[in-house]
Amino acid sequence: MAFGITEEQQLMINIAREFAANEVRPRAKQVDITDERPLDLFARAAELGLRGILIPEEWGGLGAGLLTQAMISETLAQEGYIGASLVNNLMATPILKVGTQKQKEKYLQRLASGEISMGFGFTEASAGSDAANIETTAVKDGDTWVLNGTKIFISMINADAFLVSAKTNETAPGGISSFIVEKDFPGFSIGGHYKKIGMHGSDTADLYLKNCRVPAENMMGVENKGLHVVLSALDIGRMNIASAALGLAEGAYERAVAYARQRVQFGKPIAHFQVIQHYAADMLKDIELVKAMIYRTASRYDAGESISRESAICKLAATEMACRVTDRAVQICGGYGLTEDGGIERYFRDARVLPIVEGTNEIQKMIIARTIFPKK
Ligand SMILES: Cc1cc2nc3c(=O)[nH]c(=O)nc-3n(C[C@H](O)[C@H](O)[C@H](O)COP(=O)(O)OP(=O)(O)OC[C@H]3O[C@@H](n4cnc5c(N)ncnc54)[C@H](O)[C@@H]3O)c2cc1C
Repeated sequence: MAFGITEEQQLMINIAREFAANEVRPRAKQVDITDERPLDLFARAAELGLRGILIPEEWGGLGAGLLTQAMISETLAQEGYIGASLVNNLMATPILKVGTQKQKEKYLQRLASGEISMGFGFTEASAGSDAANIETTAVKDGDTWVLNGTKIFISMINADAFLVSAKTNETAPGGISSFIVEKDFPGFSIGGHYKKIGMHGSDTADLYLKNCRVPAENMMGVENKGLHVVLSALDIGRMNIASAALGLAEGAYERAVAYARQRVQFGKPIAHFQVIQHYAADMLKDIELVKAMIYRTASRYDAGESISRESAICKLAATEMACRVTDRAVQICGGYGLTEDGGIERYFRDARVLPIVEGTNEIQKMIIARTIFPKK
C-alpha cells in the first residue's frame, strides 16, 4: 500500500471519494454563490467519521493519523475549498496536546461526533502576522477571567466555542494566555460577515469580547504561556492548508484537461496544441512534486518525528503551486474559464486565499530561513 497506509485507512479514503463525488460536488457551486456554511454537509462528514480523523478512538474519533487526514482533505478539496474544511477540525489538536482532562472530556467527543464545532480567535487589528502583539486583555476576577477585545477575520464564526488569546500580564515575557470561550458566555458577540474573494462558506467575521466572563477552568495550557497553545496546532494547520491547496490544484487540473480534450479550435481539440500540452505537463509535474512532499511529511508526523520545518515548506510550496496551477487552468479554458458556470474560476479564487491564511507565505519563509540560519 502506498506510503504504508492500512486497508482500514484506504477504506476511509474510498468513503471520502464517494462523499466528495456524490454529496459535495453537487453543492460546491451553491455554497460558493450563497457563501453560507453548509451545516448539513458538516453533519454528514461527522456521520462518516471525517470530523474526527485525528481524534483518538477513546474520544470517539478514528485516530487514523495525519497521512489519512491529508489524503482525505485533498480528495474533498478537489470539489473546492469547502470540501477540505469539512475535514479540518483544527481545535482538536491543541485540546489533545495541552488541554486538561476535563477539557478533553467536555469537548473532544462532541467535536468528533459533529455535535459542536470550534474555531480559533487570535488575529486582531494590531496582530496579524505579529500574533503576539494583541490588545485583548483578560483580568482575573475570583474564579473567572474577564476578557475584553476584538478579534478579526475569524473563520467559522457561528461555531460553538473558540480558542482565544488574551494578554494576562503586561510585563511577563509572553504574557499571553489562551482560553476556550463559548458563544453563550455573557459578553460574547459577533459582527457581520466579510465578503471574500474565495473560501466561501467559511463564515469569516469579527468576534467581540465585552466584559466576557470565562470560567478559570477554561484556560488552556499554562498562564502567560498561551502562545505555546497556538504553536501546538501550527504544524497540523499548515498541513491542512497544504492538503487543501493540493486538492484544489488537482480539481482545476482535471477540469482544464477535460475541457482541452473537447474544445475545438482551428479544426481540432485545443489539447492537440503543444502549448496546451506543455501547460498540462507542467501542472501535473507541480502537483506530483507537492503531493510527494505532503505525503512524506504527514507520514513522518505519524511516525512521531518533528515536522515544524517541513510543514512550513509544504504550506509554502503547495499554496504557491495551487495559485499557479489554478491560474493555468483558467487560461486553458479561455473565456469559459472566467465564468461562474464554467466552475474553474472558483478554484482560482479559493486557491488565492491560501498563501495568506494560517501564517502568510512570507512568514513561512521566515520560519524555514530560521532553520537554515539559526540565531546564535
Ligand atoms: C479567509 C481568512 C480566514 C481567517 N481565519 C482566521 C481564524 O479563523 N482565526 C484567526 O485568528 N485568524 C484568521 N485569519 C487571519 C489570518 O491568520 C491573517 O490574515 C494572517 O495571519 C495575516 O495577517 P494580516 O492579514 O494582518 O496581514 P499582515 O500581517 O498585515 O501582513 C501583510 C503583508 O505583510 C507581510 N509581512 C508581515 N510581517 C512580515 C515580516 N516580518 N516579514 C515579511 N513580510 C511580512 C505579510 O506576509 C503580508 O504579505 C483569517 C484570514 C483570512 C483571510
